[in-house]
Amino acid sequence: MLSDVPSSCAAAYIAKEFCGNADAVAALGSMAENRRMPHAFIIEGADGLGKSTFSRLIARAAMCTCEEPMAGACPHCRKIRENIHPDLLFVTGSGKINAISIDAVRDMRKEAMIAPNEADKRVFVLEDCDNMLPAAQNAFLKIFEEAPPHAVFVMTCRSAMNLLTTIRSRGRIVTLHPVEPDEGVRFLTGRVQGLDSQRAREVCVSSGGNLGEALRILGGDGGEMRDRADALTRGILAAMCGDNALKLAAECAAIGKDRALGGAVCRMLSQQLRSALMVAVGAQETLDAPSQEVLRLGATVSPDDLIGCMDQINQLSNMLKINISMPLFNTRLAIILQRRQYD
Ligand SMILES: [Zn+2]
Repeated sequence: MLSDVPSSCAAAYIAKEFCGNADAVAALGSMAENRRMPHAFIIEGADGLGKSTFSRLIARAAMCTCEEPMAGACPHCRKIRENIHPDLLFVTGSGKINAISIDAVRDMRKEAMIAPNEADKRVFVLEDCDNMLPAAQNAFLKIFEEAPPHAVFVMTCRSAMNLLTTIRSRGRIVTLHPVEPDEGVRFLTGRVQGLDSQRAREVCVSSGGNLGEALRILGGDGGEMRDRADALTRGILAAMCGDNALKLAAECAAIGKDRALGGAVCRMLSQQLRSALMVAVGAQETLDAPSQEVLRLGATVSPDDLIGCMDQINQLSNMLKINISMPLFNTRLAIILQRRQYD
């Protein structure tokens, strides 16, 4: 068993709360253990990979006074877990592009100068910094350069490449990755009551190891998104059947900027095309009440084309994890489906 124990005790405690990502966990563990923290972190990763959770763990590592670092027993660990620590502050975006404004940065500057209330550090988490305008980033850089030693800044973003080089070069970059199915199954069965490991594995695989997405699929809060994905998928299939390229493009564009929704639509489309494939190869009786659209696609599109189309949807869906822009995603999806329709 010794080989399974992360490099420090603190890392072992962190690993109990953060799934996978062994490198990031080990690095944070040794910082907590040595009680030495960088002044700035940049956490990058797709939505659902745990940026917000990891930023709280960084805050705990910065403030923890447990005898064994990160054990979760001190008031700082407890208050951060309960979201009531006065020295952990979140700065979020506003306006049309949901970006952190210059004004928000200036307000944070005043806060950063104030001594901590209860801990030795004050931790500021700047969330979703991808759209932060250069002027706001430069204002932040100024704070950062004159920050008092008690301040720790954590920026979260989909990709650190969306930040100015000057910021990137000053922060410790933590890249979060999807988890392996075995890790995901352990996490999900521990988190969701009554979940059996087979279903956990299915959901973990279908979410591409993205646990936020997996929890959305499993949890009640995913219901609304499922309904939207379902409605969009039906609209897209109807447009494919009706040979209506304009409607098809409009239906795909309606996915908008929601990456999780884009992923859910891809999965539902793949399922429907797989059903159409069963129709196309004459195995219709294996299906439970196929829709008109599935029957029609099965009758008019060749099996090879259906398989090719599913492949391309799968590839496109994987690009969601490497931060393809959503307008490009929506356009590509329409092109994939259109091309198949006329093949
Ligand atoms: Zn603690």
